[in-house]
Amino acid sequence: MKPCLAAALILGCLALPCVAEQPTGYLATGTDWRTPYYIIESGQPGPVVMIVGGMHGNEPAGYRAAEQIRHWPISRGVLVVVPALNVPGLEASTRSMPGIENEDHRNANRNFPKTDAPDVAFTPPCIDLWELTKWVRPDWCVDLHEGYDFHISNPDSVGSSVIHFAEDTGELAAACLEAVNATVIDLDRRLVPLGRGSVNGSWLRACHDRLGADTFCFETTYKDQPISTRTRQHRVMTNEVLRAIGMIETDCADHVAPGPGADTTHVGLFDGDGTSGRGIDELTALLDTVPGWEVSHIGVADILGGVLDRLDVAVFPGGSGSKQARALGEDGRRRVRDFVSGGGGYVGVCAGAYLCSAHYSWSLGILDAAVYTGAIEVPGEGTKQLWYRGGSTMVDVELTDAGRRALGMERQTAFQCRYHNGPIISPHGDPAIPDYRVLARFRSENWRYQAQEGTMVGTPAIAAGELGAGRVVAISPHPESLPELHDLVLGALAWTTRR
Ligand SMILES: [Zn+2]
Repeated sequence: MKPCLAAALILGCLALPCVAEQPTGYLATGTDWRTPYYIIESGQPGPVVMIVGGMHGNEPAGYRAAEQIRHWPISRGVLVVVPALNVPGLEASTRSMPGIENEDHRNANRNFPKTDAPDVAFTPPCIDLWELTKWVRPDWCVDLHEGYDFHISNPDSVGSSVIHFAEDTGELAAACLEAVNATVIDLDRRLVPLGRGSVNGSWLRACHDRLGADTFCFETTYKDQPISTRTRQHRVMTNEVLRAIGMIETDCADHVAPGPGADTTHVGLFDGDGTSGRGIDELTALLDTVPGWEVSHIGVADILGGVLDRLDVAVFPGGSGSKQARALGEDGRRRVRDFVSGGGGYVGVCAGAYLCSAHYSWSLGILDAAVYTGAIEVPGEGTKQLWYRGGSTMVDVELTDAGRRALGMERQTAFQCRYHNGPIISPHGDPAIPDYRVLARFRSENWRYQAQEGTMVGTPAIAAGELGAGRVVAISPHPESLPELHDLVLGALAWTTRR
């Protein structure tokens, strides 16, 4: 019997083909805790590895990294991934399991059989995870977690550490730490070994003590670090383990999606330096809820590592366009340009719309757009920048015919949208870049200085262009902030991917 089918039967769930794109089955079916698992078989003898994420709902990087790792091409053995053990907790961003009445069982990672206790697990997802674990008999188990602070400076938190049983896995832990710390610039954020092993009642302790598995708990830190940094650290450490035991042959640290030909559309959401505000959270929540779309948070290190090759579209959200450009550096900007001209999609919102223009020395030059800028002397106030129009406000926007078609918004023509100092776009006239098309125009305006009055109405709120084989959309306001405009954001993403 094929393992995936057998597991599906054991757990009483739907048997689906054993491909990484589709779940092999589900844990905790018929409950609020229903969650997919994936069994990826190489077809070659080798180690059995289990990876779990999302045990604690306020530790999203573990869940997101596990979602990415399940796409890795394995050459030996069997890889079993449960990306999101505590789905209601992840939805509520709570460490504990929401709604579990017995206080002793609210921490999912204390619900596994303790050493010298009966072989009993508690709560539906933990019971099914333990059944699955005993059935697949893993040689290696990896649990992806996060802490609230850096252990190197705050021993109360296990954040940024590798928890393992030193007597079994000391050498490999050192290799994982060396690999991940090579990516850490700030010495106060280095990851450290905790060779004491995992706590009694945890999944890894049960795997170690009862099944004789080798275990790693990778802990990143969610304080002051974007998700891209944390998911990357999880991938770098997991990559080190899987390479050492011969499961993967190539370096997979930049492998966040299956690549060309996938049935889902993979979006890279930039969350590096120069991003700020609510945009990342709003775009993440939007994309997480739409079937057929997967989002990975990406930073400069990912882009320099070639992550764009596996993505359909890159999104640069609000913040500061010049700071995002500075963070990307010359090489990062070239990689984004090459990605687009090679057929990738680009959607820039507010700062991301400034970034894609051809206006500044630092801009990407992938949309033939200039932006309204410059400085004026305001009596009594001094020198003021003309891009600044004050705080966030609602403005009127009207779609053009081309915009309705491109964005799939056939019924809706006019709407209000949040605006916060997005670019006022005009043609730049660079003969090397095709002219943009206007998908929507501002029909009202926001201004702070007299010189700005009348310069916004009628200009493009959304502009779209092509560069080589790729497509670019610049969105000056913030439709991601308004649920009723989420279809418009998805329409923009879909237009750039030609799907
Ligand atoms: Zn945790």
